[in-house]
Amino acid sequence: MAGKKLTCLDCGQVNRVPEDRLDAGPKCGTCGAALMPGNAIEVDWPKLQKAARTDEVPLVVDFWAPWCGPCKMMGPEFSKAAGTLQGRARLVKLNTEDFPQSGQTYGIRGIPTMIRFVGGRETARQSGAMRADQIVGWVG
Ligand code: ZN
Repeated sequence: MAGKKLTCLDCGQVNRVPEDRLDAGPKCGTCGAALMPGNAIEVDWPKLQKAARTDEVPLVVDFWAPWCGPCKMMGPEFSKAAGTLQGRARLVKLNTEDFPQSGQTYGIRGIPTMIRFVGGRETARQSGAMRADQIVGWVG
């Protein structure tokens, strides 16, 4: 069974998970970390890039910063959406203050910005804060 490629956000190992196992709590074959944890995970730059290039399950990135009021307001909504979307998409957060190179690489002009990646391509982008139900609808 081929399965969908999914980068472990803990150790960076690329796993293959059968599609019908995505909502069954798949774990990384290398380190045992949950691959679809159902909450929003803070990621670093190398793992974000690897997952954005590799993952065949939708990867939704919230580009945020601690000084950004709307970002902070959206934080809990993003987490709630991550729970609703468990098994369908992975929601991660990247702190653009810690990793400012993200702005240029992805052409981000303002935050919060969310980008949805699948199979190495950007498939959707949204600027501005949204509620959990709006995020879920947008991710699809
Ligand atoms: Zn791992």
